Amino acid sequence: MTARRIGLTGGIGSGKSTVANLWVGLGARLVDTDAIARELTVAGGAALPAIQREFGPVALDSAGALDRGRMRELAFADPTVRRRLEAVLHPMIGALAQQRTTDATEPIVVFDVPLLTESSLWRRRCDRIVVVDCLEATQVQRVMQRSQWSEDQVRKVIAQQTSRSRRRAIADAVIYNDGSTTIDNLAESVQSLWNLWSSAQPGDAH
Ligand code: ATP
Repeated sequence: MTARRIGLTGGIGSGKSTVANLWVGLGARLVDTDAIARELTVAGGAALPAIQREFGPVALDSAGALDRGRMRELAFADPTVRRRLEAVLHPMIGALAQQRTTDATEPIVVFDVPLLTESSLWRRRCDRIVVVDCLEATQVQRVMQRSQWSEDQVRKVIAQQTSRSRRRAIADAVIYNDGSTTIDNLAESVQSLWNLWSSAQPGDAH
């Protein structure tokens, strides 16, 4: 069986992980690109030899993992650093995601891709796109509560991300997750999409 590939995206604190878990609860396989990036860059991770070739030992911490703090400093001083790191990591993330999709016995694979709107490559890898959307004020409130960040910090991250309207423009379905939305409401939305998409095969009309 070919799994239907659903790309899930949304801004910081919109509720992507919450929605992803509901898909998993119905029997989807989750492929989380941030988790794959971490997996590739822990000590002994598959990306480390290539990262070391690109940047030298300065990129690794004393345990032999990617030194994220150091890379942030380097990227601050030299804007090409981020692109070079992505050039190493992105193809490896894509390949692992692809492998996990091919191996899937589940009818649906959910790709959790925060930068889906920005990546035409990732959009092409998806049969359907689901955007989790909420008011900016809700994002601010959730992230402040979860991470103890200041309002200013959260708003800065939101300003760096794609706008809500651009995200919604690429969506086959939008799940609104505002202050008054309960987890039960979200579960109903996910169940409806599951019913719609779990049986039909990729390539069917939307
Ligand atoms: P990030 O991009 O920062 O990883 P995210 O989009 O994955 O965030 P979640 O982690 O799912 O967002 O949600 C952010 C916080 O808001 C979490 O603490 C989550 O439990 C809470 N939350 C999300 N949606 C709801 C909801 N409908 N009701 C109550 N709490 C919610």
